[in-house]
Amino acid sequence: MIVEMDCLFCKIIAGEIPSKKVYEDELVYAFEDIDPQAPVHFLVIPKQHIAGAGAVTAENSAVVAHIFEVIARIAQEKNLTGGYRVITNQGQDAGQTVNHLHFHVMAGRPMTWPAG
Ligand code: 5GP
Ligand code: ZN
Repeated sequence: MIVEMDCLFCKIIAGEIPSKKVYEDELVYAFEDIDPQAPVHFLVIPKQHIAGAGAVTAENSAVVAHIFEVIARIAQEKNLTGGYRVITNQGQDAGQTVNHLHFHVMAGRPMTWPAG
């Protein structure tokens, strides 16, 4: 398992920084965003350190499919019948602030498009 000990989200996975867990299995961790932009706003991340969407390869992409399975399951459990938005930001222009692949899941209010 690749981890980067100067990475904020690797520290959250390791329990060195506290977080509000939504879901966890051997491959992924999901937790509440510290600065929610919607009534429901959590992040789903691979436990393996992947720097962002731009670092997904044939070797590590299976976890991305798993993340989307997990998102669908959590959405059913949370009864997000009104819908939800899944976002990943890659790089500066997109506003990525943490260089560990993460999928924002937001729900509970109508969303506009394009997103910002
Ligand atoms: P990005 O801007 O990279 O797409 O998303 C990073 C997200 O991580 C932001 O929504 C931000 O609120 C969240 N975040 C940053 N630091 C922490 C933290 O220490 N704990 C939690 N739970 N979320 C964080
Ligand atoms: Zn990391």
